[in-house]
Amino acid sequence: MLIHFNRVFLFIHMNNFGIAVHGGAGTILKSRMTAEKEIEYSGAIEIAIKAGSEILKSGGNSVDAVTESLIILEDNPLFNAGKGSVFTSEGLHSMDASIMSGKDLQAGSVSSVSGVRNPILLAKAVMLDPDIVMLCGKGAEEYARKCGLNFENEKYFYSEFRYQQFLKAADNGKAMLDHSTFDESDKKFGTVGAVALDMFGDLAAGTSTGGMTFVKFGRIGDSPVIGAGTYANNNSCAVSCTGDGEYFIRTIAAYDVSALMQYKGLNLKEACEEVVNLKLKGIGGEGGLIAIDKDCKIEMIFNSQGMYRGYSKNAGEIFVSIYK
Ligand code: ASP
Repeated sequence: MLIHFNRVFLFIHMNNFGIAVHGGAGTILKSRMTAEKEIEYSGAIEIAIKAGSEILKSGGNSVDAVTESLIILEDNPLFNAGKGSVFTSEGLHSMDASIMSGKDLQAGSVSSVSGVRNPILLAKAVMLDPDIVMLCGKGAEEYARKCGLNFENEKYFYSEFRYQQFLKAADNGKAMLDHSTFDESDKKFGTVGAVALDMFGDLAAGTSTGGMTFVKFGRIGDSPVIGAGTYANNNSCAVSCTGDGEYFIRTIAAYDVSALMQYKGLNLKEACEEVVNLKLKGIGGEGGLIAIDKDCKIEMIFNSQGMYRGYSKNAGEIFVSIYK
């Protein structure tokens, strides 16, 4: 960019910036998708990327870009996060979210919250509070009220589709992953995530989920666990995961991608492949992740049939894909 001040020419070097977004991985097969649904999902991913890209393009930071993209996905009932969150065994909603800034390793996470319209905003508020990193349940909701965040009633979170999922799970007495049937080979994870690099070279990652249908006993997955579902470090990369949460916790998946780059010298692609196709797969963990590094390289990798995903660099063309 060239700026002209009273005949003095200043050359400002603009770094590359970019954003990637996911809307969950799993048994997402073209043969089971209608053309309308495909357009709906792709369109939603595209809108989320565009919103984040616009922030980055206008000189905004990666934390704000990630937050904005995730708010859009949380507000869309297609995804298992925010408005589209699945029902717990008590017929309620229990949402988790986390966010991390790679510049200073600040992180914020909330788990098992109900009624909060945008859990990612609550995670961000926690991140910006120097005294805390992780809040859960009623306390987290109280904190959201203190921060003036918007709450919605049960009607807002209700959808016939999610309620039918809940009834089916209740019949079988078993927790289900988003959209899954009781056929173990059919799993879909509707969690949403975003990773971004801004023009100042700062990375950020965020993840938000409604967890599992008919979930019991306060089960918590990887999404709110910093290092498992979300991680960002300016020295390596930013990562957001989706899949069988228990496996991502056991492999500390998001942090492991970063650690493999920092300590083993792997590049982003190699590190992502080692985590998703060797470590996770090795113990039976299904799912995927999106990652961006400090050089604006982007990986969107999964060991399942598909993953709703997309990215854009320097606010240019938006690429969206679903299947393998
Ligand atoms: N990872 C999430 C969890 O285990 C599920 C998902 O990705 O949809 O709660």
